[in-house]
Amino acid sequence: MTTEQIRRLDPARDLLARVTELSGHDVYACYQCGRCTASCPFSFEPQQVVRRLQLGQVDAALAAGTTWSCASCFTCTAACPKDVDPARVMRALRELSPGRHGPRRRAWLFANNHRLAPMGSKLAPVSNWLLRAPGAGVLAHYCLGIHRARTLPAYARRPFPAWFRARRPLGDGRRGSVLLFHDTFMDYNHPETGIAATELLELAGFHVELTDSVCCGRPMISKGFTQQARAQARANVERLYPRAAEGLFIVGCEPSCLLALRAEYPDLLRGTGLEHEARAVAGQSLLLDEFLAALAERGELDLRFAGEGEVLFHAHCHQKAYGSPGASLALLRLAGYDAELVNAACCGMAGAFGYEREHYAASRAAGERELFPAIRAHPKAQVVVAGVSCRHQIQDFTGRSPSHLAEALRAAVTAASGSAG
Ligand code: SF4
Ligand code: SF4
Repeated sequence: MTTEQIRRLDPARDLLARVTELSGHDVYACYQCGRCTASCPFSFEPQQVVRRLQLGQVDAALAAGTTWSCASCFTCTAACPKDVDPARVMRALRELSPGRHGPRRRAWLFANNHRLAPMGSKLAPVSNWLLRAPGAGVLAHYCLGIHRARTLPAYARRPFPAWFRARRPLGDGRRGSVLLFHDTFMDYNHPETGIAATELLELAGFHVELTDSVCCGRPMISKGFTQQARAQARANVERLYPRAAEGLFIVGCEPSCLLALRAEYPDLLRGTGLEHEARAVAGQSLLLDEFLAALAERGELDLRFAGEGEVLFHAHCHQKAYGSPGASLALLRLAGYDAELVNAACCGMAGAFGYEREHYAASRAAGERELFPAIRAHPKAQVVVAGVSCRHQIQDFTGRSPSHLAEALRAAVTAASGSAG
């Protein structure tokens, strides 16, 4: 049933029509198989929300705890056989009734991490000391709603773009240019991920350029700041489109950020006159592993690897929903590692969800379902992840220090790779 048909049949269902419009998905495609609820790592009930919407009970769907607690991990999206995308349907519902994303101050803080991180980096190591100072956790717990047992990621004194500008490129760039989409966490918390990605691409023969871009907007989407997210999407599409139109690939390391370009922008910019440009940018956006795996498949990955040892790879939820964890695994094996994909759903962090005071227990329980036991069962394995939130969740609850996929691949590249040898 189309949006217009719904309106004509029952004007009272106008809200439901707006949910369909906003989400781009049709709840009537759902046949109540229950896979979404069965797959939810936090034991929420997306199937019930969809069911209420099918019955025209929009108020009941809005009142459901799942609608507001949902961590937007997209595990249910990946599980749905009918492309209903319950996560986006619930997000559309939340858009109809904004202002219930937990404490306003905390939501603003998480949504605007890209404004705070440059300051944190500039003030490091003082900022890092403040984050870990006695009493800081209790203060954050009661004033901001960030659980006292959590510590926000430390800031790097030297941001990644500063390293990038000062570096001496490896390789000769003979294969042309590729754009590296540098996210906020790469820039200010984990420059080592950006360094590894840059060196990998350069050793593979590419001339690496940093994107002229702003924050992808994912944190704003998650926290209900949709207009702000749309402005970010517009700014990025306007800046990236000319390069995408030249045929350049936009390669990123953080699945939630890069996949915002691919899986969110075309919807966010619907009706703005930038649809064509958004689709073009989405079409050229790839995760680092997708880019390298595609080269490897064509026999064009000009890298020599000598990795060794056991690797446990945990894929990011957005990668599972919109990317391909298989590409990461194939690359790790190609790099020489004895690599296995952990058979686990969400790590439990899901962006900022695990930091939130009221979600701490659910976050921990989600990790304890499969991921943490698998890691504990392999004490000698190197743990490799694709996302920054997975990295911190694993650190917090298992004491292990995962590396990003880019770092693991870079570490396995032999000195014989690339013209810089
Ligand atoms: S998006 Fe994740 S947290 Fe939300 S209902 Fe789906 S599986 Fe559960
Ligand atoms: S998995 Fe999809 S089709 Fe099945 S109940 Fe959930 S939304 Fe409906």
